[in-house]
Formats: sequence, C-alpha cells, structure tokens
Amino acid sequence: RAKENGKSQVVAYDPEFDRERQRGAELEGGLRSAISNGVIEPAFQPLVSAATGAIIGLEALARWRSPAGNISPEVFVPLAEKSGLIDALGAHMLRRSIEHARNWPGLSLSVNVSPVQLCNPDFAAQVTAILEESCFDATRLTLEITEGVLMTSPDQARRSIDQLRRVGIKFALDDFGCGYASIGALRQFGFDRVKIDRSLVSGVGENDSGVGVLRATIALATALGIPVTAEGIENQWQMEILRDCGCDQLQGFLVGKPAPPYEISLRLHRESAGAQLSGQSMVQEE
Ligand code: C2E
Ligand code: MG
Ligand code: MG
Ligand code: MG
Repeated sequence: RAKENGKSQVVAYDPEFDRERQRGAELEGGLRSAISNGVIEPAFQPLVSAATGAIIGLEALARWRSPAGNISPEVFVPLAEKSGLIDALGAHMLRRSIEHARNWPGLSLSVNVSPVQLCNPDFAAQVTAILEESCFDATRLTLEITEGVLMTSPDQARRSIDQLRRVGIKFALDDFGCGYASIGALRQFGFDRVKIDRSLVSGVGENDSGVGVLRATIALATALGIPVTAEGIENQWQMEILRDCGCDQLQGFLVGKPAPPYEISLRLHRESAGAQLSGQSMVQEE
C-alpha cells in the first residue's frame, strides 16, 4: 500500500516531466538514425578574401532535414554531446565535408568541432584516420573550436591540438569576443586564425560603441599576430568597417549564405568563368 502510494505520487507529480523526457528520447533516437542513415548533411558557407572578394574556403555547417521540419544544429549538436553521439556526428560531418571539398581543389575546408570531441583522447587519431582513408590534404583543413574547452580541459585540448597540428591541420578560434579567456587562450594555444563572433558584428551600424568594441577586439588578435575572419556580415557598411579593421577573410549572408554543395559548385564555376572574362572575380551571386 505504501508502495502504491509512492508510485501514484510520482505519477501525479511527473506527467509533464515524463512527456518532456519522452520527447527528448524520441529526438535522440531520431538523431541516432539520422546520423547513421546520412540524413544529416553539410551545407557550405563561403569564406571570401577581403581583398579580392574571391572564395578562398568553405565552412561546413550541419543540416538536419527531418520530416517534421529542419532542426537547428544549435539544438541537435548539444543533444549529440549529451547522448554520446557527438563523435559519430563529428566523424560523419568530416567524411561528408571532405567528399564534397574534393570537388573544390585549392580551397580550404573548415569544420566545426565540439569541445566534447576535442576532449576525447582518441579524437586526433580519429581525424587522421579519416584524412588518410580519404587521401585528403591535411593542410587544406581547418578545425574551428570555441574557447570554452580551453578553460575546462586545457591539457587534453592541447594534446589533441598539438597532435593534429603536426600533420598540418590548422585551428581557428570560433566565436571570438563573446567569451572569457580570450587573451590567454590566444597566446597559449597559438591559433592560426580567429573568427570574430557574429554578435559583435551585428551590433555595428547602430551605435559607435559597437564599432569601438569590434575594432578593439580585432586589434587585439592582430597585435598577437593572428589573422582575423569576420562572421555574420549582412550589409555593405559592416563589410567596409571590417575590411578597414584589417580582417583578411569575410563571411556572412552578404557574401554568401550556407548552401548545398551543388550550389557552391555552380557559383565557383560561374566565378571562374567570370574571372576569365573580366580578369577579376565577382563578389555576389545571391
Ligand atoms: P558557427 O560555427 O559560429 O557558425 C556560424 C553560424 O552563423 C551558422 O549557423 C551560420 O548559418 C550563421 N550565419 C552565418 N552568416 C550569418 C549572417 O550573416 N547572419 C546571420 N544571422 N547568421 C549567419 P548554424 O548553421 O545554425 O550553426 C550554428 C552553430 O552550430 C555553429 O556556429 C556551430 O557552433 C554549430 N555547428 C554547426 N555545424 C556543426 C557541426 O558539424 N559540428 C559541430 N560540433 N558544431 C556545429
Ligand atoms: Mg564555425
Ligand atoms: Mg562562429
Ligand atoms: Mg557559433
């Protein structure tokens, strides 16, 4: 009887929690099969030269098109991290991104890496194995990481980074300017590049202090000798400011939205044809 009471209490208290948990479990099951069935695929966003406007690289961004609608990586990446699926997701994204990047010789490929992956002692071996099996030139690959991991597990992060550096892989610090350990992390880990966070760029155009913070953040990286990519450029005004601040790479909806691989191929084809005709490359296609 006491047990019955306890049980009914739990049931009376918990229906919402149970539904929540069931939705989580369904999403997790869906994620598991989406990874193994190849339903999650990379879209690619151009990285363009600030000097010429030409595409110099592509960033792979995970896209999950489910029957119920598109699910954002901001939802399923954290879910993959929590449920032990992030290594499988990361390996899948790297393999698929490389398959496409093979069609775009001479361009760099950037792939996002979760802090959870970087803390896995097997991470470096997994990445080098994928590069070898696909015969992909390691010097074309940049891994984008966020600074949180450098604070929580600096030793394991450093081991993974050092090991992958030795085979020629580059590292970019993503979302720079919105975290905490910025200066220390930049110095210690010797990043090849930083990417200024979109939140700093999107404020620009509205008030002067936004421009000041942006300039100061870029100046900081530049003073440390690290080249800077600006993310999230949506208008001409932002582009001018960021060029003027010395960013050598630009990224954002203005210069190219994330797009499926065939659209990227089409644009590259058109731009190289245009460059041959006019002696320079075209900037905008959207
Ligand atoms: P991120 O790596 O900082 O990627 C930039 C995000 O900003 C992307 O969102 C991109 O679509 C969006 N974006 C780019 N330009 C603009 C712009 O001009 N305006 C606006 N409003 N947005 C812009 P997305 O694709 O939703 O990805 C969000 C985050 O999810 C990424 O941030 C990255 O941290 C994570 N992510 C995406 N794919 C992967 C993946 O394969 N593995 C891991 N570990 N994380 C991933
Ligand atoms: Mg990124
Ligand atoms: Mg970013
Ligand atoms: Mg981000």
